Amino acid sequence: MKQPYDVLIIGGGVVGSAIAREMSRYRLKIGVLEKNLDVCYETSGRNSGVVHGGFAYDRGSLKARLCVEGNQMMDQLSKELDFRFIRCGKVLVGNTEEDMETLKRTLKQGEDNGSKGLVIIDEKELHRLVPAVVGKFAMFSPNSGIVDPFNYTIALAENAHENGVDYYLDHEVKGISRQENGTWRVETEKGDFLTRWVVNSAGLGCGKISEMLEIKGYHVIGSKGDYIILDKRTGPLLPMPVYPVPSNTYMGIHVTNTTDGNVIIGPNAETVTDFSYYGVPQRNMDYLAESASDLWPCISKGDYIRNYSGILPKWVDDEGVIQDFKIEIRDEIAPHAINLVGIESPGLTAAVPIARYAIGLMKERETLEPNPNFNPVRKGIVRFAEQTKEEQARLIGENPDYGEVICRCEKVTRAEILQAIHNPLGVDTMAGIKYRTRSMMGRCQGGYCQMRIEQMIEEELGKKATEICYARQGSQILFGEVR
Ligand SMILES: Cc1cc2nc3c(=O)[nH]c(=O)nc-3n(C[C@H](O)[C@H](O)[C@H](O)COP(=O)(O)OP(=O)(O)OC[C@H]3O[C@@H](n4cnc5c(N)ncnc54)[C@H](O)[C@@H]3O)c2cc1C
Repeated sequence: MKQPYDVLIIGGGVVGSAIAREMSRYRLKIGVLEKNLDVCYETSGRNSGVVHGGFAYDRGSLKARLCVEGNQMMDQLSKELDFRFIRCGKVLVGNTEEDMETLKRTLKQGEDNGSKGLVIIDEKELHRLVPAVVGKFAMFSPNSGIVDPFNYTIALAENAHENGVDYYLDHEVKGISRQENGTWRVETEKGDFLTRWVVNSAGLGCGKISEMLEIKGYHVIGSKGDYIILDKRTGPLLPMPVYPVPSNTYMGIHVTNTTDGNVIIGPNAETVTDFSYYGVPQRNMDYLAESASDLWPCISKGDYIRNYSGILPKWVDDEGVIQDFKIEIRDEIAPHAINLVGIESPGLTAAVPIARYAIGLMKERETLEPNPNFNPVRKGIVRFAEQTKEEQARLIGENPDYGEVICRCEKVTRAEILQAIHNPLGVDTMAGIKYRTRSMMGRCQGGYCQMRIEQMIEEELGKKATEICYARQGSQILFGEVR
């Protein structure tokens, strides 16, 4: 049995890690239990990476309010935590009178929600902003942006950890019970934990954790969206995300630039009950490319480098209507438990305001003392390829490992891979290195460097080749010796 915690957070995605970081501003002993081997293997690493403006959500909803707040604080967060965020703007493109009516309604809703600078633009202005787009007019949102979802999540987690939060990766919560003295016992296969407060930020697992807390009745469905990633060659053709006119419940298949210069196409929206299947069928890729080509006719199969998918946890009522974020403390059933349900889009944009809202509920029930040692600043791994020639020479002079390029496509050096292998959270998977450095994310997708990186993990961490997982438990890439 581990020492008792003040707070145990279940789920270390962007929301759980934002809660961990925000709570580390106070004198609290905090732990995060994460079932995967890293913090961004579920929805937080499987999305469009768009920092939304807040115009797409119902007036007065938590989604709208926390999205606008999250959008406004993203510049400061990215500076403090050293992750990529670009306020590039975004367009919603229309062609018909009906589209125009929808865009005007969306703009009004956005203004009511506090989204600034929204404007309807004509075809000429649309082509000035995004020359390759097809459409007659658009709504332009200058404050929308794009973020690196992996490093944003990792940065929050690392900063929380640097401020004293314990991360337990590979710890799946299997049961929760309340002791007679009011503390919670949280069960995992690696031992039980005691805590005064428990937080359910389990993403797709929110329904199960709610049930464990005896908070019944939440019906959570999955909405799966697939994506295609295009080669960086296409990046210059897309300066900002291009969306179609939205429906009430779905933003539509869009094309989005990424903070590293790729383009992603997607997502579709398929209701699913299996929350662990992330395959992308060929027919869905064909459908994505066909739909997105109507907006942005620059899609060619020769530029496909990878696909991926993500699943949104949508909380629905008995009629199947999608509900707002639920962030609650049910004192009568589960006192000292903060329950988050249905944190779907815009959960990435809104993660820090969601965390602050959750802490606000806690503060209504107990006084929290500030942590005088809290440090909001975290430094990421310096990208050698993006430094000036002089800076590169200086880095190589200081550390010759900067002189050896391991990933040729993304020009990632041995020094960067070594820093990633020795990351603060102790993540030791191939994907862990990939998300921290961009190695294996280029045109060849690791064909050249993957085995060299695998060997470096073996050497640095004293692991056997057969122990090293690609991402999830059981995803070993080597099973034995052939000679
Ligand atoms: C296709 C798609 C596109 C999206 N696009 C955007 C976008 O452009 N902008 C935006 O703002 N938002 C977007 N979102 C939404 C956003 O990604 C999510 O709202 C956000 O990532 C939710 O974060 P989370 O931490 O709640 O969930 P997760 O990242 O899923 O984290 C929950 C964690 O809990 C862990 N867990 C679950 N059960 C247990 C258990 N029993 N024990 C221990 N750990 C457990 C999981 O392993 C997981 O790591 C998109 C989502 C999808 C699917």
